[in-house]
Amino acid sequence: MKRDPRFDVLFEPVKIGPVTAPNRFFQVPHCNGMGHQYPSSMAEMRGVKAEGGWGVVNTEECEISHTSELSGAIESRLWDDDDIPVLRKMVDKIHAHGGLAGIEPAHLGAGAANNYSREVPMGPAARPIDLLEPVHARRMDKSDIKAFRKMHVDAAVRSKKAGFDIVYVYAGHDMTTLMHFLQSDRNDRTDEYGGSLENRVRLLREVIEDTKEAIGDTCAVAVRLAVDEMRGKSGISSDGEGREIVEMLAELPDLWDVNVSGWENDSATSRFSDEGFQTDYIRFVKQVTTKPVVGVGRFTSPDAMVSLIKNGVLDLIGAARPSIADPFLPKKIDEGRVEDIRECIGCNICVTGDFLSHPMRCTQNPTMGEEWRRGWHPERIAPKSADESFLIVGGGPSGLEAARALGQRGYDVTLAERSDTLGGRVQIESQLPGLNQWRRVADYRTYQISQMANVATYLNSSLSVDQVLEFEADHIVLATGSDWDTTGIGRNNRRAITGFNSDTVMSVDAICAGATPVGPVVIFDDDYYYMAGVLAEKLRNEGHEVTYVTPAADVSHWTHNTMEQTRIQARLMEIGVRIIPLHNLATIHADSVDLVCMYTDRIQRIQCGTLIPVAMRNPRQTLFAELQGRAKSVTLIGDCNAPGTIAAAVYAGHRFARELGEEAVEGVPFRRELPALSLD
Ligand code: ADP
Ligand code: SF4
Repeated sequence: MKRDPRFDVLFEPVKIGPVTAPNRFFQVPHCNGMGHQYPSSMAEMRGVKAEGGWGVVNTEECEISHTSELSGAIESRLWDDDDIPVLRKMVDKIHAHGGLAGIEPAHLGAGAANNYSREVPMGPAARPIDLLEPVHARRMDKSDIKAFRKMHVDAAVRSKKAGFDIVYVYAGHDMTTLMHFLQSDRNDRTDEYGGSLENRVRLLREVIEDTKEAIGDTCAVAVRLAVDEMRGKSGISSDGEGREIVEMLAELPDLWDVNVSGWENDSATSRFSDEGFQTDYIRFVKQVTTKPVVGVGRFTSPDAMVSLIKNGVLDLIGAARPSIADPFLPKKIDEGRVEDIRECIGCNICVTGDFLSHPMRCTQNPTMGEEWRRGWHPERIAPKSADESFLIVGGGPSGLEAARALGQRGYDVTLAERSDTLGGRVQIESQLPGLNQWRRVADYRTYQISQMANVATYLNSSLSVDQVLEFEADHIVLATGSDWDTTGIGRNNRRAITGFNSDTVMSVDAICAGATPVGPVVIFDDDYYYMAGVLAEKLRNEGHEVTYVTPAADVSHWTHNTMEQTRIQARLMEIGVRIIPLHNLATIHADSVDLVCMYTDRIQRIQCGTLIPVAMRNPRQTLFAELQGRAKSVTLIGDCNAPGTIAAAVYAGHRFARELGEEAVEGVPFRRELPALSLD
């Protein structure tokens, strides 16, 4: 198919200083949990994006010195020449597909604890570091500033040696020393680097000039600047100092990469932000510079991208998450296959890789992070290895992805779903407050299988064991999902809660299906992810008196890893949900529950008309049990195997389809990246 001419503008080359981007698709720097520890994985992942048409592909933040390192988190490193070959690998992969390679050298200053190097962190002022560690940064003196500038020059020269086309100067995300110097409430210096904005900008200006002088003949120098910290006039703001900084440095860099700060604002989830949520903050930039401007906003709609270019907001469409969810997004637009785009759902499961220090994963893209170690490609999959047929029972994320990937391989697939809609839990959960975009997990797959003649879908088909067997499929795949448990058993309670009775409790599933609880409602969160918080929001919005109880210290505790926790807790507080943290459920009475303090065993009694335990889910395995001995190939995938995230369910479906017909591997089923063996 041919590209729709209205998208032509997205495929125009853009000159960035001495280099030229082949199109306007720009993968901005983003963390990935691979970095220096899994460099082959990182390189392959970036290469796949270039193959998918991203004209510029960047690294994540790249530590430029052992004196500023984030050990624990896994970023790239360019501490000395020894790191060059590692990064060159990534550059080569990107160049092989005609893309430009960019690098984001970073000095984290008071944002790093230096737990590995044990160097004392340094910053504009002598203050505790940002991380919750008992560490102070020391104030940089003139010799430190000189050394700091040299670190940047050395990193730039090494970047050039590694083959990079674009080298960043990074003052963003409330995270780097260069940004800390800009901030009036961090920088209390009285020398020429503190005080007036001009003084606070001095170090950034010097580093840009140094970098240009060192490598600007062949490499473009980009500045990544947080133009708004979203804290009004007490921080950098797009109608205040953010704008003034860009005005002061307007023509100095070859490219402006502008966004909001901190990272939780820049990568806000779809629960709290819409596509294009940054546009109002960054639109001024092109009015004050002639240099190309790139910005982000979870852009997945090509029409929205075109209007950003045509309306003079951006020159390059920046993307981190949309490029993770679909590394082939540009190519699909180019080939007139817009409906094939796998749109990011804005869930931030990808971000958890950085927080939890493992290779990134993605809800929408099960091949993310598997490109090198398992050889999985986001668009290609081996053709079928035999003429075999499949019956998949259950059309949730796991069943849908298995059907899609098996269908892509060319197998005959029948997908049976008992409800009248495909999507399973995604269909249900996307109707909860703020989760609407999660529908995309089902939408993408439903459309894909609708285009496949070899995949037949049956709705309203609740299959019994005999009906399953009647299909005479070579392989039966059960993707029947799970039910929320109501007994309260879970992490903190190994037995049903004393006094458990089915009159007082109501299941998460019932609430999602629209059941009306008797107030006052108590939601018990022993799950720690989004569900209990979302239900509290829903029921409070419907007018119920809601108390949220959790053994954790705060609401939806695991969402610290998706950078949503603060917003979730604030929202619940604002709408009047009563929050009781650090308490477990002790006893259920007729119209009340006893809560026990996690530390003191003290009991408090609260009124309760309906208790909703959000603690664990029971895999639906009835069919599996009934099929034992009656069918030769039966496999459980997704939540009916072990309940988990939607990302895990999609992954399970994909993995089943990939591995089918492959020889079983003994031992570790993927390639590993072992540290260089220096065994002397
Ligand atoms: P997963 O996350 O593993 O994909 P879901 O709970 O989202 O699991 O989806 C499971 C789907 O399976 C649901 O849509 C459910 O209606 C369907 N299902 C469960 N049991 C049967 C059955 N016996 N026959 C057909 N569909 C079923
Ligand atoms: Fe988007 Fe979620 Fe994938 Fe991240 S994990 S890229 S937010 S779909």
